[in-house]
Amino acid sequence: MLWVVEPDSLLVRGLADNPSGGLSPALDRSTTYERVPGGNSPYGRTHSPVVAECEALLGALEDAGATVFASGMTAWTCVCLTVLGQGKALALPTSGYYSLEGFSTEILERFGVEVRRYDARDGDDFRRACDGAALAIIETPSNPLLTLTDIEAAARAAHAGGALLCCDSTFATPLLQRPLDLGADLAWQSATKYLSGHSDVLAGVVTTRDAELRGRLEWTRRTIGGILAPDAAWLLLRGLRTLHVRLPRQVASAAELARRLAAHADVRAVHYPGLPGHADHELALRQMPGGCGGVLAFELADGTTAGHCEDNVRLARCATSLGGVETLIERRARMEPEGRVPEGLLRLSIGLEDVDDLWADLTQAIASASLHPGVAVAAT
Ligand code: PLP
Repeated sequence: MLWVVEPDSLLVRGLADNPSGGLSPALDRSTTYERVPGGNSPYGRTHSPVVAECEALLGALEDAGATVFASGMTAWTCVCLTVLGQGKALALPTSGYYSLEGFSTEILERFGVEVRRYDARDGDDFRRACDGAALAIIETPSNPLLTLTDIEAAARAAHAGGALLCCDSTFATPLLQRPLDLGADLAWQSATKYLSGHSDVLAGVVTTRDAELRGRLEWTRRTIGGILAPDAAWLLLRGLRTLHVRLPRQVASAAELARRLAAHADVRAVHYPGLPGHADHELALRQMPGGCGGVLAFELADGTTAGHCEDNVRLARCATSLGGVETLIERRARMEPEGRVPEGLLRLSIGLEDVDDLWADLTQAIASASLHPGVAVAAT
């Protein structure tokens, strides 16, 4: 499609026309397809026109081949099943999206994979973990503390140790961060979040410029049945049409709320690399020039106060997940083992509501939690 040069136009226009002439993408729910003479009979675990359309679009965004999965975790499962095996090593950060730890302990280690944990703030520790490993995973920005990893440096270190580098870029999307341009072998996202954007689809995507690796990943997906269902793929395509409009608005509101929270007397810390004082701010300017995403985290005095704040919001919703049109708040220590994240930490995923309404909601929730723990301020 030579007349399309910017991702915005690509996302709106898509890459395939509906044969009916309809402007909305075609939805084909078939699980099997009639055999073409001289060929095979395609089956739904391998072949799905609407999934192929998602993959063409997501691949074009990153100048890569995309493979779409039934969830973000299905995508990660397929990466691991493709690259790892008994006696092979995975370098895994000790911070970041917590399900990777559970997956490693309960599944990978049980099947004989060596999991080498590294501190994502320590480059030497990362190099040690990558030495002789088959795969290294980084997550940037990380969930829920929003720390950044230098992708270019991580790719150099992973390759020096003989490992492939996979970057979880869920918080950024290809509009804010380009891991493959910076040397990552695989870029992974939970498409459940920003890409679909409406809290109504579970999906995952992995992109790579290595055609052979993509072929192996696709084979794993086909064999375990990890493909995205057609209805979910259609909703993902629908969400992608507006990603470039939703995301900048979420980034702008997140940056504004981070600034205001940083000046709030009851807030102990704000975690958002877009803030000038943040430890990763310089890296953020280089690696994410379009902004640091729509998620931030902040700390109140302790777990009880943060829990009351969660209970007292009225416009934001208290729920897990992120990247949707609605603002979500969550005290992460409720979900993660003791000591992994601060007790008073609240993660905020900023949606598309008016930023002043969000600020009014947050300040009333913080005030009622700090002054009268457990008592919601009466609605006015
Ligand atoms: N990566 C990150 C950073 C996430 O936050 C999540 C889910 O919250 C996942 C991966 C897993 O994605 P899914 O829930 O689509 O399986």
